[in-house]
Amino acid sequence: MRHASKAIVLSVEKFGEADCYVRFLTQKWGVISTLAKSARKSKKRYVGGLDLFCHDEIFLRGDPKDRPYLLELNVINSFPGIREELDKVMMAGKVVQWIRKLADVPTPMPQLYSLLGQTLSLIEQESKIERLELLTLVFKLKLLCFLGLSPQVDKCTRCEGPLDPTTIFDLSSGGAVCSQCPKDVSTHNLYLETEQRLLLRNAEQLKLSTWNSFNTNPLQIPSLTRLLTQFASFHTHIKLPN
Ligand SMILES: [Zn+2]
Repeated sequence: MRHASKAIVLSVEKFGEADCYVRFLTQKWGVISTLAKSARKSKKRYVGGLDLFCHDEIFLRGDPKDRPYLLELNVINSFPGIREELDKVMMAGKVVQWIRKLADVPTPMPQLYSLLGQTLSLIEQESKIERLELLTLVFKLKLLCFLGLSPQVDKCTRCEGPLDPTTIFDLSSGGAVCSQCPKDVSTHNLYLETEQRLLLRNAEQLKLSTWNSFNTNPLQIPSLTRLLTQFASFHTHIKLPN
């Protein structure tokens, strides 16, 4: 049986003398691993489509969920603009790692496939480092939302009541907690200002097609990025890159 799907390269792992296992986020089957025979001997067969982040149309033989053979591929976009700049390679690498660590399952996730494709296109176009960091934050929030792991920041996670201007972000209860409610004292307390809560909410709800008009205070980005990584690691027990 021959199968075809659009797919994005998440990782490439050497296998034996000349072969590779290539992990893709596919449009049809979620994340799958494929065996690319002779990938290291003959570059011609896979026409440069096995580099990290490449967006390809792939053709497989065998069950897509059971390590099928990668027969051939067409490159849709190799994102050359990402590869030319180290900052962009780093950001794209983090985005891909978050998917590999949190969504490494052969379950159809077409929205996640679209989210990754859109994010990579925007990383390629973006020129400022703060904007790249903000984009990565938006991506992580959207990924967590897709996985049902959004931090709650617009009302108290415990009582659903209103929040104070400076509020405690309680990792174990899953979001901001008002001054009336008890907090988990076993974890390190993190604080959130109103501006930061708004940024998290707006970033999660942002339509990526309107990315160019999305702006924010760049000073907020690093601390929110760390907070989100801590939050996701706490709830999944998986170590994630910031
Ligand atoms: Zn409360």
